[in-house]
Amino acid sequence: MKFKNSFYLPSGRVFLLETDDGYPVECTEMRDVSVQGKQHYEVRNTQDPHIIWKHLKPYEEKWLLTVSTQKGCVHNCKFCDVADLKFKGNLSKSEILQQVNFLLSSTPYVQESAKVKIGFARMGEPAHNLKNVLGAMFSLFEFDRKFNWLPCFNTILPRKTTEGLSGEDVLKKVIDFKEDVYKGFLHLQISCNSTDEQKRKELFGGADVLSIKEIVNYINNYSSPITQRTVTLNFIVMKGVPIDVDYLMELGLNPERFAVKLIPLNNTVQSQENNLVTLANYSNYEDLEALRDKFKQHKIPVVIDAIAKCEEAGLCCGQLAHIFV
Ligand code: SF4
Repeated sequence: MKFKNSFYLPSGRVFLLETDDGYPVECTEMRDVSVQGKQHYEVRNTQDPHIIWKHLKPYEEKWLLTVSTQKGCVHNCKFCDVADLKFKGNLSKSEILQQVNFLLSSTPYVQESAKVKIGFARMGEPAHNLKNVLGAMFSLFEFDRKFNWLPCFNTILPRKTTEGLSGEDVLKKVIDFKEDVYKGFLHLQISCNSTDEQKRKELFGGADVLSIKEIVNYINNYSSPITQRTVTLNFIVMKGVPIDVDYLMELGLNPERFAVKLIPLNNTVQSQENNLVTLANYSNYEDLEALRDKFKQHKIPVVIDAIAKCEEAGLCCGQLAHIFV
């Protein structure tokens, strides 16, 4: 895999590498910009990178990486700019690790970190490449840095993977791996986006995915406790897209096993073309907090994952690749 290009954001970089067969693959390294209260408002709304720089967490505390798992994606999610790149198959375990190696060798000054969160989530659906993705996660320990790795498996959870696994098989393999290999320190995040299954299907471009009911049942009945990191249900919040907290509670959403993440819709080409509009963002953040509070009333751990306004351009998956394909 060779270096092709890079794109700078106030909090980090998006890299474009190229596979031996000429496919552009994105990976990223970012720092966290987490601040509370009045300063949080300031960071979210600013167009001034200096304000972001002032609030970056030290690498030693937390570092955020992402790597791609496939050349493009078989799915066609209406909010994602990977969707309209050509799909050319899985990345090998070695190609996934080459991205990690590239990110580490581009940042030789980061030798230790209490938490390196690495999302196998940039381009591609990792469930379709499970063996290579879990194999790459396993090999993270071999990198010669003093890191506490926190791998993240972000999935829309297809009912059947291209390798022939069921959605339940994927859940079992990922959770077993999380508990056995990472002693719970692996983050499984399942893209939900709506509690209306018809709407979900539409947003996933018609993909047949496990229903939220099936997911909740499976996780609630998983034979052992879910330790350290509970399973996170991700909701990209969009206008006209229902998120029914009471329905989730009726399904049995258990705070011992689940958390929820609320994410404003990023400004992607696909979301604009498909007329998707975020429920809340910089100007009406309170609406997002109101939804968060509904989950909190039921004691469901919930985080809001809002990016800063001046980070938005080019941050989204597939956007750098698009410039060069
Ligand atoms: S969101 Fe994930 S599954 Fe959907 S098109 Fe993008 S990369 Fe593929």
